Amino acid sequence: MKHARWFRDASGRGITITTSKRGRPIIKIEGRRFFKKRVLGLKAHWKCSSHHHLGCRAVLHTLDDNMTIIKCYNVHNH
Ligand SMILES: [Zn+2]
Repeated sequence: MKHARWFRDASGRGITITTSKRGRPIIKIEGRRFFKKRVLGLKAHWKCSSHHHLGCRAVLHTLDDNMTIIKCYNVHNH
C-alpha cells in the first residue's frame, strides 16, 4: 500500500486514499472501498468496489484533488 494518505474530512470520517494493485486510485471510507469511475470536469465520481458484482449503489463525488468530498452516499447493500 504505497502512497497511502489518511485524513479526516469535515464530518470526522476517517478516509484513506491509496492505489489498487493495478495502480488505480482507491478511496477507503469507514472500511468501504471506492474506485474512481469517471472524471467530469473538476469532479470525480467514485463507486463502491462491489458496484459491479453486487450492484451496490454507494457513491462518492470528490473534487479532482481526490480529497475534497462533495457528496457521500455511503449506503451499501452488502
Ligand atoms: Zn457497497
